[in-house]
Amino acid sequence: MWNHPDSICVHGSETPAYSDGIRSLSFPIYQTASFAHDLVGHNQFNYTRQDNPTRLRLEETVAALEDGADAIAFSSGMAAIAAVFELFSPGDHIVCSEDLYGGVTRLLRNVSSKNGLLIDFVDATEPNRISEAIRSNTKAIYLETPSNPMMQIIDLRAASAIARSCGALLIVDNTFMSPVFQKPFHLGADIVVHSGTKYLSGHNDTISGFVVTSTKEMGEKIHLISKTTGGALAPFDSWLVLRGLKTLCLRMQRSQENAIALSQSLQHMPHVTRVYYPGLEDHPGHEIQKSQATGFGSMLSFRVDSRERAVHVLQHVSMIIFAESLGGTESLITYPLTQTHADVPDDTRRRLGIDETLLRLSVGIENIADLEADLRQVLEEKL
Ligand SMILES: *Cc1c(COP(=O)(O)O)cnc(C)c1O
Repeated sequence: MWNHPDSICVHGSETPAYSDGIRSLSFPIYQTASFAHDLVGHNQFNYTRQDNPTRLRLEETVAALEDGADAIAFSSGMAAIAAVFELFSPGDHIVCSEDLYGGVTRLLRNVSSKNGLLIDFVDATEPNRISEAIRSNTKAIYLETPSNPMMQIIDLRAASAIARSCGALLIVDNTFMSPVFQKPFHLGADIVVHSGTKYLSGHNDTISGFVVTSTKEMGEKIHLISKTTGGALAPFDSWLVLRGLKTLCLRMQRSQENAIALSQSLQHMPHVTRVYYPGLEDHPGHEIQKSQATGFGSMLSFRVDSRERAVHVLQHVSMIIFAESLGGTESLITYPLTQTHADVPDDTRRRLGIDETLLRLSVGIENIADLEADLRQVLEEKL
């Protein structure tokens, strides 16, 4: 049996794809809405909203990569995260880190709050802030590390100890690291969520999401929510993610090499005033990152000296693409202020430093000299 991520990505978790009698190397796309039954009460699959072999293959692979007990594939990261919040009831209290993916902030403020969940946003880089926010009705701690877009690092072991002490679930969004660099279950998490749109599928061509659970029982609860609310990933999209996953380990390594190099060269480029990347030794979370992850990933943010320069960079890069999203083969540059984080309240944005001079870069797998030349050119140009 193989259990290294390098092999799981290529071959899945247990039985090879070609063991079905047909011997196709690529796992088949079961493009069907329903499955025939032989006998009353005896069917392997029933109806694709509930279960589908292509999606199951993907779920087993992702569960194995995260060392989880179960995984449930959704039509987007947001569908996955929304399903997790269906675990809670009106009056339940949840503590969240404040530097969150913008869509999650919107979900919590506009949808979950309306449904009676009580949410507190805290600076979770300081574990004391998490403990201080705990109440008798706290049911979960929800964290994203490294955070988006400020690349803050949260100590997951410390957060897990707090969650244990009050009987709350620790939920971690592992999108930025992927299971290649960070395994939240090894650090005490109960639930891991992913936007599969990003590194897992990796080619900027599919929207998908995952909930991975540390126990079978929690997995069953999420399966029930998925089959009931209907956000499960389609068979063809499941296949696209399976295909993207084959190169996950290679892509993570290569894009990280590029990001490390860029985080250093950017610091010496004109008009750049600050680079935020956990791989830099002066990053405040550098040591914690080294203690809980095996890499630094390929997301970085940087600051330039004026709004005009930021706008110029966005509009004049040539190979790097000015577009929302991250984690794919293509390098993308984003303006968090007007794109991903437009719905974050002003005061939170200001406190975090998400302003008109901040740019976020998702480093892809292109040639590093070409990436550096692209950025250098837009930073050197006269305005
Ligand atoms: C993109 C993203 C999400 C949302 O995922 P979608 O697939 O876009 O719905 C959630 N968390 C993080 C960290 C993300 O980057």
